[in-house]
Amino acid sequence: MIPAPATLGMLGGGQLGRYFVMAAHELGYQVWVLDPDTDSPAGRIADRHLCADYGDEAALAELAKGCAAVTTEFENVPAETLAILAASIPVHPSAAAVSVCQDRIAEKTFLKTHGLPHGPFVEIASLEDLRHAPSDLFPGILKAARLGYDGKGQAVVEDRAAAESAWVALGSVRCILEAKLPLDYEISVVLARGQDSTVRAFPSAENRHRNGILDVSIVPAWQVDQNAASLADTACEVAEKLAGCLKYVGTLGVEFFVSRGQLVVNEMAPRPHNSGHYTLDACGTNQFQQQVRALCGLPLGDAHAHSAAVMVNLLGDLWFEAGQEREPDWNKLLAIPGLSLHLYGKQSPRVGRKMGHFTVIGQDSKQVYAHALKARVILGLPDA
Ligand code: ADP
Ligand code: MG
Repeated sequence: MIPAPATLGMLGGGQLGRYFVMAAHELGYQVWVLDPDTDSPAGRIADRHLCADYGDEAALAELAKGCAAVTTEFENVPAETLAILAASIPVHPSAAAVSVCQDRIAEKTFLKTHGLPHGPFVEIASLEDLRHAPSDLFPGILKAARLGYDGKGQAVVEDRAAAESAWVALGSVRCILEAKLPLDYEISVVLARGQDSTVRAFPSAENRHRNGILDVSIVPAWQVDQNAASLADTACEVAEKLAGCLKYVGTLGVEFFVSRGQLVVNEMAPRPHNSGHYTLDACGTNQFQQQVRALCGLPLGDAHAHSAAVMVNLLGDLWFEAGQEREPDWNKLLAIPGLSLHLYGKQSPRVGRKMGHFTVIGQDSKQVYAHALKARVILGLPDA
C-alpha cells in the first residue's frame, strides 16, 4: 500500500486526469502530471506539471524519481513510456494491458483469443488485404488501428471499392475492417480492478452518440428492461472476465454493442471513461476515486449507484451562436432540480471539444430523463 501524502504520477493532462488529481487530493496524495500541453485541465490543478512529450527521457526520469506510482488517463501514451517507468516504479494499468487497448487489431485479437464476444473483423495492412477481405464484412467500417477517438480515423465503407479509397484517405496505415453491425443500442461498463484482483463494476450505462462523439449516458440503461436486464448483467460479467484476462489494475471502460439482441464488445479504454462521469454524482465512490485506490493498493469502494442518472456532454459548439462566441445560459440550467454542472477549465472552446458535462440525478429515472431533456432545450441541444 502507498500511504498519503506520497506523490502519484499521471500521464496525460485532460479532464480525466483532472478528476484523478481531485480524487487523489481528497485522499491526501500529491500528483505530478506529464502532458506536453502548456495549459492542460489536469496540469492546472496538479502539484506539479511536467510540460514535456510522453517520450521525454528527462521528464520520465523525474517522474520515476519523484513519484511512488504512475497511472494514465490517455490510452495513446506510448507503451514504451510505461515500460520505461515500470523499470523503477509501479505502473498501473501495465504497459501490456495498455498496448492491447491502444491497437484495435490487438484488442479484437485479444477478445477472440479469450473467447469473449466480438464482431467479425480482419486486419488490413495493404490494398492486397482489402482485395481478399471476406465479402460478408461489407458494408463495413474501416478504422485506423491506432490513435482514433470520438469517431475520428474511421469510415463507413459500403463495398470493397469504397474501402480501397477510404484506406488511402486514412493514410494507408494499418487498419481494421469490421462488419457494420445493426445496433439495437450501445452500453458500457466501467469497472475497477484492484491489486488483489477484487473487481467492482459500476451499473452499466446506455450511450447515445452524435457525430461520433458520446452525447448522453443513461443509468440505469434505459432500454435495458425485462429480458434485456440480463444483458446488463452479462455485460458486467464479460467486462470482469476481460479485466481478469488483462490482469488489469485500475479503472477500465468497456464499450458494448447490442446487435440483434446479442452483446458484443466494441472496444476498451484503459482508463476512466466518459460514460462513467455519472459516477461523480450518483455513486458513493466514483470512477476516479477507484483509480486512485487501485493504484495505491487501497481497498476499492462500493460501486453501487444511489440514484438514477443522465449525463450529457457539453461540447465547444455550445459556446458559439451564429459564428459569435457566447456563454451558455448556466443560470437557467442550474435551476433544474438534481442537476450538477461540471466544467473542465479549458481556455478556448472549439467545435467538438469536450468542455464539460452535466449530470441530473434523482430517484425516478423517467423524471431524471425529463429533467435532462429540459436542460438540453435550455442549451439548444436536440432531443437525445
Ligand atoms: P471511437 O474510438 O471513436 O469511440 P468506436 O470503435 O467506438 O471508436 O466507434 C465509434 C462509434 O461508431 C461507435 O460507438 C458506434 O456507434 C459506431 N460503430 C463503430 N464500429 C461499429 C460497427 N462495427 N458496427 C456498427 N457501428 C459501429
Ligand atoms: Mg468508442
